[in-house]
Amino acid sequence: MPEYDAIVVGVGGMGSAAVYELARRGLRVLGLERYDIPHDLGSSHGVNRIIRLAYWEHPAYVPLLRRAYELWRELENRAGERLLFVTGSIDAGAADSRTFTGSVRSCEAHGLPHEILTAAALQRRFPGYQLTPDMMAVYQADGGFVLCERAIVNYVEAAHALGAHVHAREPVVDWEEQGDGAVVRTERGLYRAPRLILTAGPWMSRLMPSLDALARPERQVLLWTQPLRPDWFRMGAFPVFNLQAPEGHFYGFPVFGIPGFKVGCYHHLRQSGDADATDRSCHPEDEALLRVGVRRYFPGADGPVMAMKTCLFTNSPDEHFIIDRINRVTIAAGFSGHGFKFCSVIGEILAELAIDGQTRWNLDLFRLSRFEK
Ligand SMILES: Cc1cc2nc3c(=O)[nH]c(=O)nc-3n(C[C@H](O)[C@H](O)[C@H](O)COP(=O)(O)OP(=O)(O)OC[C@H]3O[C@@H](n4cnc5c(N)ncnc54)[C@H](O)[C@@H]3O)c2cc1C
Repeated sequence: MPEYDAIVVGVGGMGSAAVYELARRGLRVLGLERYDIPHDLGSSHGVNRIIRLAYWEHPAYVPLLRRAYELWRELENRAGERLLFVTGSIDAGAADSRTFTGSVRSCEAHGLPHEILTAAALQRRFPGYQLTPDMMAVYQADGGFVLCERAIVNYVEAAHALGAHVHAREPVVDWEEQGDGAVVRTERGLYRAPRLILTAGPWMSRLMPSLDALARPERQVLLWTQPLRPDWFRMGAFPVFNLQAPEGHFYGFPVFGIPGFKVGCYHHLRQSGDADATDRSCHPEDEALLRVGVRRYFPGADGPVMAMKTCLFTNSPDEHFIIDRINRVTIAAGFSGHGFKFCSVIGEILAELAIDGQTRWNLDLFRLSRFEK
């Protein structure tokens, strides 16, 4: 049976970074991926993902984000390719909305330079935004996006250069702890290692059934529309955004990679269920839900459809991540629609946990034991 120092199951966003971080520390690593690298059936496809320091979800994420930015820049230097684009970020909603107040709270708690803008001031500055007069926005200049498929490709290439083995199209069927390690069984064979990391995204509960209620896949849809006013939605003129509106919590990007303004809505049609049973097609009702937000708040982008894609969130009950180590098994799951920006730092954390059993980061917000309370 082939032996490694560590095995990573799932070479998507988190797993690709973990394989690299383990290889960088001199370990003989095997990454096992069920589909291609990259692929468009999990959580990490669709050109790009928002990254932002003004973290409305919780101020505790901000130190992790600072490290994530550093590590994305390191990967770019190694790869000789730009992966993180700074556009500025907008967090908007009613003055008492979680998105606006949470963003202000994180900025204040961590001394992040930011500006508070009324809807009118936001529109003067960035004409693509046409929010209602009751809405307020936080502008934070460091926000932007990370190229998701390219990040995975670059992590795997960097890991290859360090000697890591990565096998695509090799699904893991099951695993068990044996003696001082774990044995992993795939459709092609058995492998053993003293450390196992599970980063299976929407399929996590298949590998760890105890996570069934804690890491729940949910169908999402992304829409790209041709801007009617291309000058308002080009790179340099339009910051990425989170907008908590009465019609839904929308997020979006300037035109990049696909010739359209990109928009999504958190939790979309609220369709949770088994990842393999997810409807991967896009339908008129998917477009209709997202059009409502485009038409009302970004009318200058309300042109024909350029592209649509389905994708999967994996939600935890409180929408904070699940990162922990149980015996020899380190797990990372439940990224609840906001994990990609952190892949770089979570790769580092997973390597530290797997090797040392601990990390320099405070993981209290992310521990499995919080659900026992
Ligand atoms: C539409 C959408 C928009 C998003 N927007 C943002 C955003 O703007 N900013 C942000 O930070 N985050 C965002 N997210 C969330 C972010 O993309 C996810 O949190 C992140 O991609 C999760 O990475 P992961 O490694 O857990 O999952 P994945 O990247 O899906 O990786 C899991 C991998 O495990 C593999 N696998 C599963 N089971 C097995 C098995 N048995 N054997 C081998 N391999 C297996 C899968 O094939 C997959 O490749 C968004 C997500 C979606 C869907």
